[in-house]
Amino acid sequence: MLNLSNILEDSARRYPSKDAFIFLDTHISFAQLNGAANQIANGLKAKGIKPGDKIALSCLNVPYFPMIYFGIMKAGAVVVPLSVLLKRDEVAYHLSDSDSKAYFCFLGAPGLPMLEEGYAGFQHASQCEHLFVITAKPGDPSPIEGLSTLGSLMKDQSPAFPTVSTSAEDTAVIIYTSGTTGKPKGAELTHSNLFLNAMISTGISDIALEDVQLIVLPLFHIFAMTCLMNAGVYKGATSVLLPRFDAEAVLDLMNKHKVSVFAGVPTMYWGLLNYENTKFDLGEISKNLRSCVSGGASLPIAVLEGFEEKFNVEIFEGYGMSEGSPVVTFNQKETGRKPGSVGTPVWGVEVKLVDADGKEVPVGEKGELIYKGHNVTKGYYKKPEANKVSLKDGWLYSGDVAVKDEDGFYYIVDRTKDMIIRGGLNVYPREVEEVIIKHDAVSLVAVIGVPDDQYGEEIKAFVVLNEGKNVTEDELRTYTKEHIAAYKYPRVIEFLDALPMSATGKILKKELRKS
Ligand code: ATP
Ligand code: MG
Repeated sequence: MLNLSNILEDSARRYPSKDAFIFLDTHISFAQLNGAANQIANGLKAKGIKPGDKIALSCLNVPYFPMIYFGIMKAGAVVVPLSVLLKRDEVAYHLSDSDSKAYFCFLGAPGLPMLEEGYAGFQHASQCEHLFVITAKPGDPSPIEGLSTLGSLMKDQSPAFPTVSTSAEDTAVIIYTSGTTGKPKGAELTHSNLFLNAMISTGISDIALEDVQLIVLPLFHIFAMTCLMNAGVYKGATSVLLPRFDAEAVLDLMNKHKVSVFAGVPTMYWGLLNYENTKFDLGEISKNLRSCVSGGASLPIAVLEGFEEKFNVEIFEGYGMSEGSPVVTFNQKETGRKPGSVGTPVWGVEVKLVDADGKEVPVGEKGELIYKGHNVTKGYYKKPEANKVSLKDGWLYSGDVAVKDEDGFYYIVDRTKDMIIRGGLNVYPREVEEVIIKHDAVSLVAVIGVPDDQYGEEIKAFVVLNEGKNVTEDELRTYTKEHIAAYKYPRVIEFLDALPMSATGKILKKELRKS
């Protein structure tokens, strides 16, 4: 009987005129959002969409995203959120891989030719029957002639719709992983996976009815989808949407809307920390900002400490992944927090660290993090081989190496795939990165292994310097050598102007390996 869209239905009943989403000057109330989602569900039904059909959605952080997301779910169909940065071949792959019957594609934005790429991809996905263009205003015609628009789908449809009855175990979303380590895989998440994780997230960010949260993390990624959008809708809080990260725009919106809850990936905290502020009263912003959450990648302690001092607010870090809906562990207010740690398992989730034979490792030792519970995906859609590797007896094998301390707090060491074996010794890049980033001149760093005749692999660091600061390769090597065992310091250092980032703000080491 559970359908995730009930969280919207319920908030629309309780707080009909309260702002659900704010984008630029547009304010959408819970009742308006619910009515629009119902019109979409009616429109989809009229087009012959059946419960269980897959429907893809590429959309920036604008109110159309939640409208379509909940509209699809109300119709009993499955949402397949796609990254807005995908190019035509990738769109075609995702539409076909997910068996999507219909595809909602946003027009784009300056420098983001979404519709062009989306349309080209759609033409190569023969099973996908409908393309709906999300135009800036509902009445606008499609810039590519002859295509249906979201506006025409909704036109004359009733704002009432009886939500299709789905079971808790029915798939609600097929979410593609970020593709940090390889080709993205579609994880099937159920209504119950997503509902319970959204409820848990409200406890983590401590979000309540009177809160205003800023959503700059992309809604097509599981972090923002569950922990911000769904958690916010469930609680009846107001969400301010920002399509692209820019430190100045973030501070401007925090200031304007008295934002109290913020969540970001580490590069966003880094961007806010390094922003040279002359425009805003940070004291005023800090006064409203009471809850900050980080996840998606490891938050360097130097960034955490710097941000906390600048904004006078604590950051609570957690760990999760698409396959875990996403939250697995978190620094929770009730259990206290430990900077550098990703906290303890959340309610209903069991975590173990195991060796290569699947045996649990003792406290303080490194092992692969595996977890079991209500948050675990049914599996990767149509990927039986990947499921055999990642899902065993209900345990999800994360591919991340972690350590547990005596208090039960977990520390992510690194991804198994990123571990460097130099002369037979294991080196985890994160440990080296944590040392290099503490250097005054260093702004960003990423460490990878490169092939080496003598040692098998050698350690290489890519470094972005702080503006106006300088350090030579030799000086940086000497500095690192003083703080880390001799086999771990980077023999090769390359200075870059920027590091390659994914749409979700993760450093893409697979791109650095190609260079
Ligand atoms: P792919 O699986 O396609 O390579 P991905 O793993 O980056 O991409 P996501 O599901 O978005 O896709 O990210 C989950 C991963 O992010 C985790 O497995 C872990 O490696 C990393 N991660 C998440 N939170 C943290 C954290 N707090 N500290 C360190 N790593 C984290
Ligand atoms: Mg992954």
